[in-house]
Amino acid sequence: VKKLGRANYQFFSESLHKDSRRQLSLEMDLHKALERNELVLHFQPQIDQTRNRVVGAEALIRWQHPVLGTLAPDKFIPLAEKMGLILPIGDWVLKEVCRVAALCQSLALTEIEFSINISAHQFLLDSLAENIHQYLEEHALPSALLTVELTESVLVKDVETTAAILTQLRDVGVKVSIDDFGTGYSSLSYLQQFPVDELKVDRSFLTGLSQYKNAEAIVSSIIRLAKDLGLKIVAEGVETEQQLSFLRAKECSIIQGYYYAKPLEAEALIAFIKTFNRV
Ligand code: C2E
Ligand code: CA
Ligand code: CA
Ligand code: CA
Repeated sequence: VKKLGRANYQFFSESLHKDSRRQLSLEMDLHKALERNELVLHFQPQIDQTRNRVVGAEALIRWQHPVLGTLAPDKFIPLAEKMGLILPIGDWVLKEVCRVAALCQSLALTEIEFSINISAHQFLLDSLAENIHQYLEEHALPSALLTVELTESVLVKDVETTAAILTQLRDVGVKVSIDDFGTGYSSLSYLQQFPVDELKVDRSFLTGLSQYKNAEAIVSSIIRLAKDLGLKIVAEGVETEQQLSFLRAKECSIIQGYYYAKPLEAEALIAFIKTFNRV
């Protein structure tokens, strides 16, 4: 199969430029990726550094392409959005996260929470909250185990629609997180208008700690803001001891990043949790 695949790619190279050829084959392949079981979720642990325990994980999608190898979401999620495939893919992600969450429950890893990235189209789908509710029920999962992560670009649509959807999600009992906080715009106005539970400090601000004089003040302010609003705060993309100790000093205890672990396949995640939490 692999050889045939390569031959096909070769064939296209005769007639098309390299970039458009790659794009065209990716589009054709993405149509089949779901039914061929080529999509996988990796899970990046979230650690509470004060309790020194894994408390959650963020689901991050990968595409195991038969010819190109493992593709990161940046390589195909925008394409999926453009092709209208993001809804079936997003739905698969929801189901798969519930499956793995149920697996953790069955292994007595009951405190592990799961975060899911939701795209703009998926957020605006009428049945999002209903679907999540259904999958939770199917696995008898407590809804508080799930957090949906929304970027600021998802939230800037129209205020009434956004507020209605967020209310539906909260009625189901899942939590709402603002991803990449501070990198979009009008952040503060929607904190005033919308019910959210969590802010995620974007990696760029943490990278900035060693580069920009202002970064410390920005990160401190975001953490302070979350605390004053009674929101959970998660720092993502934490790579170094320096970043970790800065966050510790500012009382940001939930940490996600290469410092502790890269995104892991479900089995490796479970092994990681067992070792880390000594259970
Ligand atoms: P994101 O939600 O901001 O996810 C965090 C990204 O940072 C992930 O990249 C993760 O692997 C990476 N990361 C985490 N810790 C570190 C670190 O310490 N250092 C560095 N350099 N990177 C770190 P990834 O997995 O490539 O995902 C990229 C983006 O794709 C995500 O950004 C998210 O917006 C999107 N995405 C991922 N999975 C899904 C999905 O299931 N559905 C949708 N709609 N989007 C997804
Ligand atoms: Ca995210
Ligand atoms: Ca993020
Ligand atoms: Ca990001």
